[in-house]
Amino acid sequence: MTGFDELRLTGVGRRFGTADALADLDLTIQRGEFIALLGPSGCGKSTALNCLAGLLPLTAGSIWQDDQRIDTLPPEKRGFGMVFQNYALFPHLTVRDNIAFGLRMRRLPKDEVRRRTEAAIEMVRLVEHASKLPGQLSGGQQQRVAIARATVLEPSLVLMDEPLSNLDAKLRLEMRTEIRRLHQSLGLTTVYVTHDQEEALSMADRLVVMRLGRVQQIGTPEQVHTKPATWHVADFMGYRNLLPVTAGRVDGETIVVPLGGTTVEGVAQLPPQADGVAQTGALATGDQVVAAVRPEDVRLGNDDVAGLRGRVEVIEYQGRELAAEVVLSDGVRLHTRTDRKVEPGEHVSVSITPGRLLVYPSGGSAELP
Ligand code: ATP
Repeated sequence: MTGFDELRLTGVGRRFGTADALADLDLTIQRGEFIALLGPSGCGKSTALNCLAGLLPLTAGSIWQDDQRIDTLPPEKRGFGMVFQNYALFPHLTVRDNIAFGLRMRRLPKDEVRRRTEAAIEMVRLVEHASKLPGQLSGGQQQRVAIARATVLEPSLVLMDEPLSNLDAKLRLEMRTEIRRLHQSLGLTTVYVTHDQEEALSMADRLVVMRLGRVQQIGTPEQVHTKPATWHVADFMGYRNLLPVTAGRVDGETIVVPLGGTTVEGVAQLPPQADGVAQTGALATGDQVVAAVRPEDVRLGNDDVAGLRGRVEVIEYQGRELAAEVVLSDGVRLHTRTDRKVEPGEHVSVSITPGRLLVYPSGGSAELP
């Protein structure tokens, strides 16, 4: 295994014809990190992964493994492991032989092949299935074989492209934990592509959120979840209330926006400049902005509480809470949560958790949600 301390992508881009599938990707991955590339379909996640793997030549930028430039190396010289959504197992080989295949190709001593193969089989908990063919296994078991086959070679980096997307919901949850457990016990540096934000938040050390081939935000799950860099990231991270409005009074970070016939205070969100210094004063009264808040931060209260008022339109059972869609007096619809029993048609008061209404520059009228 050729280990590294740091893998650096600088200005990485991939163009198809005149279209940039990926542009200006700057990312430094530390050894042992679990990175999720996240974003909607077509945002360039797979392109980024394939560039890293060496399956796609770059059209801009470079990739460095410590001091060595690697984007000019063919895939097999990079020594990375890969797990894709169609597991690509050899159908005529048993689980054990599938897992041993790469070790045998490397002409390692028989004892070592056996030892490492059996350890990998145990790690993915397939001991009872080791002599079966892939066709005799469930989807989750096949995926575990694919993971074992990639990790048994102890690659310096494991690349996974939507590895769980063919599995049912329950199995997907189990495999998340399994992959995370493997990552922790082996300390494997991992780059994981997904369009599922929950998957990314629960598994990764850092998320790279992409849109239209460009990075929108790189951050820890907590940073991306609580402080999305743009309203597009907020949208993607489950901020279901995205309200195009005109900014009222601006006072430092606090920005007043009209809502429900009254005004509410939000927190101005400005993308950091290239040098990481927060911008100030870029949002002004009268600007077109987008106010974003999660349903969990919009609560229904008692009728007698002062504040926003609205009428419940639709309710949806969501385990411990109800999700309620509420129409305010100005016609704005809000997705809310409540632990009270409410009925459609009921008049309710609505409160927004202080500090949780985020206000973004709209990015132009063509871009409004
Ligand atoms: P998905 O989640 O749907 O796989 P993605 O985020 O992985 O999407 P990519 O597959 O990286 O997205 O594609 C990014 C963009 O590049 C898309 O607009 C896609 O149509 C385009 N693209 C990808 N591969 C090619 C290719 N071989 N030739 C031309 N365009 C391509």
